[in-house]
Amino acid sequence: DSRISRISQAMDIYPNFPKPGITFIDIFPIMRSPDVFSDLTDLLVDHIKQTHPNVEIIFGLDARGFLFGPLIAQRLGISFAPIRKAGKLPGETLQASFQLEYGSDKFEVQKCSAAKGQNVIIIDDLLATGGTMAAAYKLMKDLEADVLECIVLVELENLNGRSKIPGKVFSVIKRN
Ligand code: 5GP
Repeated sequence: DSRISRISQAMDIYPNFPKPGITFIDIFPIMRSPDVFSDLTDLLVDHIKQTHPNVEIIFGLDARGFLFGPLIAQRLGISFAPIRKAGKLPGETLQASFQLEYGSDKFEVQKCSAAKGQNVIIIDDLLATGGTMAAAYKLMKDLEADVLECIVLVELENLNGRSKIPGKVFSVIKRN
């Protein structure tokens, strides 16, 4: 798929960011080019239409999951809902803590964002150790939603984050 190589080439790599020993992949340059950004959204929409036509809600992870999630949900004609860092969402919420590649944090979701048994997909920019996505997955289970797939733009394969996710993972680009 020629779209994958255009997306891959658009990303920038920063050694030793945000601290020594971490190699950071910057996904924002994808959005400098509307054509490459379209490649990405088209590819994800095609994938979801083919593999999960029964999806009802896209959940995006704070913060870079918010860049792609709403676009894709709107293209599919379905709902988008946020999974946010704790303390940002009003009303009744559920929480889950997680370890990051660098630090720890807490996620929160609104109870009203999915009904029991609804088919959902979770989306984020990057899967590293998998702690972030695993926490989001747990929140969906706590909501009693049915997680069809976790989707990321980039998967850092050598960190084996996939093994922490009890369900399907789809990544557009795999790196080491
Ligand atoms: P994990 O919990 O899988 O170790 O880390 C994944 C989370 O950290 C994602 O929410 C992602 O946005 C962020 N993250 C970790 N490393 C990188 C990186 O190199 N580039 C980007 N864009 N995000 C990263």
